[in-house]
Amino acid sequence: MVLLLCLLLVTAASGCSQRKEYQESTVYAMDTILTFQVLTDSDSGIFDLLRKEVDQVNLMLSATDAGSELYRLNQSDGKCFEASEELADVIVRCLSVAKETNGALNIALYPVTQAWGFPSGDYHIPNGEILKELMKKIDWEEIQIEQNQIQLLPGMALDMGAVGKGYLTDRCVEILKEQQISSALLKLGGNIYAYGTREDGSAWRIGIQKPFSEEVAAVLTAKNEAVVTSGTYQRYFEEDGKKYHHIIDSATGYPADNELESVTIVSASGFQADALSTAYFVMGLDASIQAWKQNPDIGVIWILKDGAIYYTENLNGRFSAAEGTETYMVRQE
Ligand code: ADP
Ligand code: MG
Repeated sequence: MVLLLCLLLVTAASGCSQRKEYQESTVYAMDTILTFQVLTDSDSGIFDLLRKEVDQVNLMLSATDAGSELYRLNQSDGKCFEASEELADVIVRCLSVAKETNGALNIALYPVTQAWGFPSGDYHIPNGEILKELMKKIDWEEIQIEQNQIQLLPGMALDMGAVGKGYLTDRCVEILKEQQISSALLKLGGNIYAYGTREDGSAWRIGIQKPFSEEVAAVLTAKNEAVVTSGTYQRYFEEDGKKYHHIIDSATGYPADNELESVTIVSASGFQADALSTAYFVMGLDASIQAWKQNPDIGVIWILKDGAIYYTENLNGRFSAAEGTETYMVRQE
């Protein structure tokens, strides 16, 4: 069973009127805090539906929960596994992003992220020889998938940590639409979805965190869009004065090490935003600027280690950086 810690906060007294108010529900799942803020009647039941969805997605995509479908796939030891259509579909979409980003997104990295102790919380630098052996098990091009039949090589294992919250976001958005909700803000760790507008009709204002700080580096307005950030500061440990974070470069088996501190993607699709924020982070600034040129509908904000911020021209007018920040607009040309 998935252990969920649920807390329902009614943010305003509703009495017996049917007036809609913003209400909030917080769930602990996917190794993070998920907060749903929804404009609704007090008795709409929306939070039960959202929490049910969290449970279902967890039961499909968790790599650590022994009851999950992904866990069973990871135990298949080279044999063919009959997956649900949903899981097969998520994997196919991940492989398509892997191709598009030359393997920067690699869902087959699990043996390596486990060696770093990221899923368990037992963080440490892996032994070089062990890492070398595990690096032979992370080739995503070896994932065989035909309809819902999936076959991994023995020793391979998949990890949906880079896309799970984005996928869940899209499923929650579908529920909000079905329930005819007009306004909501979903916060799934670093994944935000601005659903509709605020009650007064204005766009949501999303703060983008300054890495390793409580301050806001930039503010962005958003409507019906995911705003997803991947960064070095979200999960890391320090050894001998050096920081090791949880986004791994498949080429080295080590945390991606480039000029970036975080990448934020703005997209109508939570899945795409989550997948590409991780992938662009691994690619670094220059390669991900080139990748964005093939993907001009999304917005991107890059925060560099030196504090400078790059942002794509389609965000111009809805994006403002903190005073004194060096900013550069990236154009399609
Ligand atoms: P967060 O989980 O903080 O939102 P990301 O979406 O960037 O951050 O996902 C990072 C997680 O994805 C890691 O904790 C790990 O489980 C997994 N991961 C790490 N490196 C990669 C990679 N190159 N490709 C795919 N998944 C990765
Ligand atoms: Mg991601």
